[in-house]
Amino acid sequence: MSVTVRFAPSPTGYLHIGNVRTAVLNWLFARKHAGRFILRLDDTDTERSREEYAQAIIEDLEWLGLRPDAVFRQSERLELYEQAAEQLKQAGLLYPCYETEQELALKRKAQLMAGRPPVYDRSALKLTDEAKKALEEAGRRPHWRFRLPEGSITWEDAVRGRVEIDLSTLSDPVLIREDGSFLYTLPSVVDDMDMRITHVVRGDDHVVNTAVQIALTRALGGEPPMFAHHALLRAKDGGPLSKRLGSLGVRDFREQGLEPEAIVSYCATVGTSGPVRAFIDIDALAAEFALEKLSRAPARFDEEELLALNADVLHALPCEKALPRLKNLGIGLNCAEWEVVRANLSLLHEAAEWEAVLHGDISPPELEEEDRVYLKQAADLLPEEPWDEATWKAWTEALKRETGRKGKALFMPLRLALTGKTHGPEMSRLLPLIGPGRTRSRLLSAAGQAHGAS
Ligand code: GLU
Repeated sequence: MSVTVRFAPSPTGYLHIGNVRTAVLNWLFARKHAGRFILRLDDTDTERSREEYAQAIIEDLEWLGLRPDAVFRQSERLELYEQAAEQLKQAGLLYPCYETEQELALKRKAQLMAGRPPVYDRSALKLTDEAKKALEEAGRRPHWRFRLPEGSITWEDAVRGRVEIDLSTLSDPVLIREDGSFLYTLPSVVDDMDMRITHVVRGDDHVVNTAVQIALTRALGGEPPMFAHHALLRAKDGGPLSKRLGSLGVRDFREQGLEPEAIVSYCATVGTSGPVRAFIDIDALAAEFALEKLSRAPARFDEEELLALNADVLHALPCEKALPRLKNLGIGLNCAEWEVVRANLSLLHEAAEWEAVLHGDISPPELEEEDRVYLKQAADLLPEEPWDEATWKAWTEALKRETGRKGKALFMPLRLALTGKTHGPEMSRLLPLIGPGRTRSRLLSAAGQAHGAS
C-alpha cells in the first residue's frame, strides 16, 4: 500500500507557522515513503472561505518547496458528500434534529446542574413522523446528527501511542447544518476514503474528532487510515500561538527575508527528540524524518531560533541556489564571492553590503594620523600580482616587519580601509576578490590621498 497523505487547511486565512508545520510533516512523511502529498482545501464553509486565501496557500506551499501532487477543493465535491449522507440516512445513522441553539444550550445547562456530562440526549430519535411533520410545518428545518455507536474507539497513534475514547462521553455530532451545508466531519471522512489517504497527520486538537471519524468511516464501510497527532506549537511563554498568528505568517517571514529552507527545517525539527537543525537538502531531512520522533509535549515557537536557523541555512547555501535568489534582490555576486560572503549573513539581503565592498563604493573611514601613515605604507608594500588567498598573509607579514605593528593595530586599519567595517569575512579570502585596483585606491583614499574612485 503506497503512502498518501493530505494537508487540509480551510482557506479562511494565510498559512502560519502553526499550520504550515502540519504541511511540512505530511510532506516529509510522503517524501520519505515515496508517497503522495495531497492539498485538500476544506472550503465547505462558504461564509469564511476565500479564493484569495486558497491561492495564497498554494503559492506559499510552492515557495516552501512543498508542491502537492494533487489539489482538491471540497466545494467541488459536494455530490460525494450528499451520497454518503444518503447512505447514512438509509442505515438510520443520520437523523434529523429540530432543537434550536437556545434549546440545546438549556439542555446542556440542566445536565451540568444535575452533575451529568452535557451530551446530546438523542431526544430527536424519539420523534414520531407526525411530530417531525408538525415541526417542519411550523417552519423548523432539521440539522442532522450522526448516531455514534456504543462503546469506545481505540487506535494506535503514531505519535501518542494507544488512544482510547469512550463514545458515550460525546454528543452525536452534527454533520449537516439546518441550511443543508456540511460541517467539516463528513466531507473529511468521505475524502479521506475516496482519496485513499493512508495516514492522517495533524494537530492534536483533532484527537476527539478522530474517534468520531473512525466511527463514521466504519459506518460508511471503510477502513480507517493510520493517525498521527502532533502536539501544537505554542508561544514562547507557553500560551496558545493563535493569538499571535497575525505576525507569524509564512508571508511575513518571506517578507522579512527568511529562506524557505529555514522555515521547513524549523517546522521539521522543532518539537522532536533532537535539536532544531538546518537542512538544505530536503531529501536528507526526509530520510531522517520519522513521526515517532515527534514529541507529545507541545513545542514552543521561538522566533530567534528560526532566525538562527536562517543564518545556518545561508552559511551552507550552495551557489546555484543562492545566485538566483540574490539576483531577485538585485544583488550581483559570483560563486567565489558568495562562498566568501555567506558566512557573514543572517538574512540574504545583507549580501548587498558586501556587494558594495566587492564591486561598488565604500565611504573611507575616519582614522588617526598614525593609521593614515600606516595605510600609505601598506599601499606601497602591496604584493605583486597575481593575488590569491596567500597574498594577505604575505602582505601583513611584510607590514609587520616594516612597521613593528601587530594584532589589532596591524589588521584593523586595513580591514576598515578595505571594507569600511570592523567585522566581516576573512580578509585573506576577501582581498583577492576586492582586487589590486580597488585595494590600492581604498588604502590611499583612507590615507587621505584621493586616488580616483574608491
Ligand atoms: N480543515 C481542518 C483543519 O484545518 C483539517 C483537519 C484535518 O487534517 O483533518 O483543522
